[in-house]
Amino acid sequence: MSASEDFLSLTEEKEVVAAIGQAERNTSGEIRVHIEEHTEKPPLERAQEVFFQLEMEHTKQRNGVLFYIAALDHSFVILGDVGIDQVVPKDFWDKTKDLVLRHFKEGENKAGLIAGILEAGEQLKHYFPYDAATDVDELSNEISRG
Ligand code: CA
Ligand code: CA
Repeated sequence: MSASEDFLSLTEEKEVVAAIGQAERNTSGEIRVHIEEHTEKPPLERAQEVFFQLEMEHTKQRNGVLFYIAALDHSFVILGDVGIDQVVPKDFWDKTKDLVLRHFKEGENKAGLIAGILEAGEQLKHYFPYDAATDVDELSNEISRG
């Protein structure tokens, strides 16, 4: 089994994808998860690279959010697009990140991701509310593995 699947099995992945769908019914923000084994780069720099590789800047309000994980490195980054940065406080992601890391430290990777994704939806809805009439699933909810 790869380190990526060791971190989150394919069965657990389905529940995380469902959580993304649930979060995206709170907000027009678009959440994606990328899990890879290792990177030589600083995690934030690598997360930015993955963000563009996944073409996550292709949202109308520039409100994509990437949860980036390098499993073997124990690296975790939450990266929001510029549309989010423009309107939220600087420490916007701290609470969500702490919540996820508390679970990761206990080895509860699936629970951590689900809690973080749902929290992100709750936080984002204040700035980017969901509108059932106009919402489009702009970015796939499927997990990306590198
Ligand atoms: Ca959407
Ligand atoms: Ca989506």
